[in-house]
Amino acid sequence: MLPENIERFVREFSRLPGIGRKTSERLSFFLLSQPDEFAGELADSIIRLKSDMRLCSVCGNITDKDPCAICSDTSRDETVICVVETAIDIFYIEETASYKGIYHVLGGVISPLNGVTPDDLALKSLLMRATAGAALEVVVALSSTTEGDATALYIAQMLQDKGLKITLPARGIPVGTDIQYAGKGSLAQAIRNREEMK
Ligand SMILES: [Zn+2]
Repeated sequence: MLPENIERFVREFSRLPGIGRKTSERLSFFLLSQPDEFAGELADSIIRLKSDMRLCSVCGNITDKDPCAICSDTSRDETVICVVETAIDIFYIEETASYKGIYHVLGGVISPLNGVTPDDLALKSLLMRATAGAALEVVVALSSTTEGDATALYIAQMLQDKGLKITLPARGIPVGTDIQYAGKGSLAQAIRNREEMK
């Protein structure tokens, strides 16, 4: 039986993705072996992570100022909107330095099995941004999964006959892989070689 403080740490940290109970126990003993400042700084960074961050009211990106750095950057190409599932996908696409348009975070994909309906996603705001602004092209950069593909199709149907070009990133991303695990090279290529949705 672990002391209550360690047990609590282990319980909380094992709620993180990819961290099981064993890893969490090892982390707790590692932290206990470190100088006091280390745990203090780590705790402080976790608290600040949430308290100073919000969602961009324009695109849904995670940001410390609203609108986010991308939405307030006048050099970005406002005629191209890239639709992604989560804000972390923006981070990965930005790292490729191969895209200069703006973004729209959907908040997931349509998934009847998980109870996610179109109403749960930022689809109405996408329709508004795609039709009211300067947009000429919408890049649907969702995961190459059955649900991602079904959501892309839903978006294509929602935006049809609006005078927009709807494109998909070329299939440089392996089927069944999330954007964030695609790898920089194949992600850059996939975004560059995006194709029109048929
Ligand atoms: Zn934004």
